[in-house]
Amino acid sequence: MLSDERLSNVLHIDLTRKRWRIEQRPDLFEKYLGGAGVAAQLLLEECPPDTSPYDPNNPIIFAVGPLTGAFPLASKTVAMFKSPLTGNLGESHAGGRSAVAIRTAGYGAIVIKGASATPIYISINGSKVQFRDARTLWGMQNAMTVGRVIRENEQSPGLRTIMRIGGAGEKLVSYASVTTETYRHFGRLGLGAVFGSKLLKAVVVAGRHRIPVSNRSTYRKLYDEVFKACVNSPVMKKYRDLGTPENVLPLNTMGGLPTRNLQTAHMPGAEAISGESFAEYNLGRRIACAHCPVSCIHIAALREPYEDEPYFYKTTMVGYDYELIYALGTMLGIADREEILRLIDTVEAEAIDAMSTGVVLAWATEAQEKGLIGADETDGLTFEWGNRAVYEAAVRKIVSQPNEFYSTLAKGVEAAAQRYGGLDFALALGKNEMPGYHTGPAAQLGFSIGARHSHLDNAGYTLDQKVLVNRHLSPEEIGQELLKEEIWRQVLSSIVICFFARGIYTPEVVQRALASAGYDLSTEQLIAIGEQIFLAKYQFKLREGFRFDDLRLPKRLFETPSPTVPLIEPEMRQTIDYVRDWVQERITRQ
Ligand code: SF4
Repeated sequence: MLSDERLSNVLHIDLTRKRWRIEQRPDLFEKYLGGAGVAAQLLLEECPPDTSPYDPNNPIIFAVGPLTGAFPLASKTVAMFKSPLTGNLGESHAGGRSAVAIRTAGYGAIVIKGASATPIYISINGSKVQFRDARTLWGMQNAMTVGRVIRENEQSPGLRTIMRIGGAGEKLVSYASVTTETYRHFGRLGLGAVFGSKLLKAVVVAGRHRIPVSNRSTYRKLYDEVFKACVNSPVMKKYRDLGTPENVLPLNTMGGLPTRNLQTAHMPGAEAISGESFAEYNLGRRIACAHCPVSCIHIAALREPYEDEPYFYKTTMVGYDYELIYALGTMLGIADREEILRLIDTVEAEAIDAMSTGVVLAWATEAQEKGLIGADETDGLTFEWGNRAVYEAAVRKIVSQPNEFYSTLAKGVEAAAQRYGGLDFALALGKNEMPGYHTGPAAQLGFSIGARHSHLDNAGYTLDQKVLVNRHLSPEEIGQELLKEEIWRQVLSSIVICFFARGIYTPEVVQRALASAGYDLSTEQLIAIGEQIFLAKYQFKLREGFRFDDLRLPKRLFETPSPTVPLIEPEMRQTIDYVRDWVQERITRQ
């Protein structure tokens, strides 16, 4: 039995009728833990087959887990929905204060359906839900300003989160994101556009409940153990000191840093945009998600003079990490820290996914170079590697969509290349724009077969660097390794742990932590639950039309040499076929 009955509360909100109800679902939380596990089941239940991502019936699901608020780094919220970018599983994770606020408000999950007739935002304060008029906020492009205005108007007591969209979400850019607090996001796969389609500008959640645990002294002992490991671990120190930008130099040195639309995997002058350089010259402060002692979120202070006032400066605080430096830096040929920060700031304000934006703009640059598009399409812009000002103007046009070309770019790189040509260098896997790793076949296979087509699904780039570089694995063995990692990650994203702490939350620690929340599960049982969650996601994907056989491996992946072992398409197809058969056989058996 769960030690906190409130965890099984699912808050259902109907935006069309402006009603809400609370449903108790211990069946879901006992069987699938929380987070991704519960959200995947709710998605299967709540999203009717073949629903358009912009149909009011497409649910927005937020779910947290049994360790949320009780253990360090159990700080993430899982969002699930049908993705406007891929047309199947939409899943995105964010930290900030969102998870702890939802849990202390008394919920394990929130399901939002329907669509409002006029712009609104929702304010959830414990068991009270209010629908607030957001007509004055609609049209406000800058998601940071939206947060600031709501913060001043909402007097909610307790721990609070403000999840909101900017201009990109309102304009249904398929990869619009949702900003939570100021520097965290549900970044990938277009949750912001689903908000926009419902005329939902923001969701505010505030909570004050305590979280009960079983056996306080055992809990306290384990808590201290985990806390000390988080503070003392050299891996976590790495995340705190330089953050993920520490990856820039090693990846560049090995030749795995996608540059200029992956025409090369080595960026000249990368030292200037390394984690070390950002930390030395630009770092302003570090912040942390709620209930995390690590503080891996690096914020730069961008100091710029006002026009015509040489001795007066404005300072803008801009969050940066490895993926942003890759997508809005090397992928676009920009090797200047302040130019990257300016572009990040624009993308952040519009609340649009940085990785998708960078890949889309990189494709557009090459497409223009190759004559596939001209000034008519680009509305007069000439894309040029390294030209931040042009890319910034293009981001604004992707949001405002002044012509068909930008409306197509707003649907993602796959849609753009289908319409204008250049599929060979359109870098999407499973229709999701590629993350910043060209380390070998396992990375690209991981993006392809991962349920979200994300680098966080199964970390194939680690398999490339730690295993394949030293030892040959058959295509089937690569498939088995990727599946093993992704299945365990389902457990972590259901309890819901920040993946940076995956080395600390070993199966043994997870078992003991879950015991304090009322679960009695062996490692084998946890892995079986992970497998069921993974299959539930694939059940949804297949139901919505995803086919392994349709997975496209862009030619560019094979043209740019990999630093570990070569990418060989027939062998990679064998891995995809292996995973396809593995998934289908188990789904049929269920
Ligand atoms: S390590 Fe970073 S991302 Fe993870 S919970 Fe802590 S602050 Fe958030």
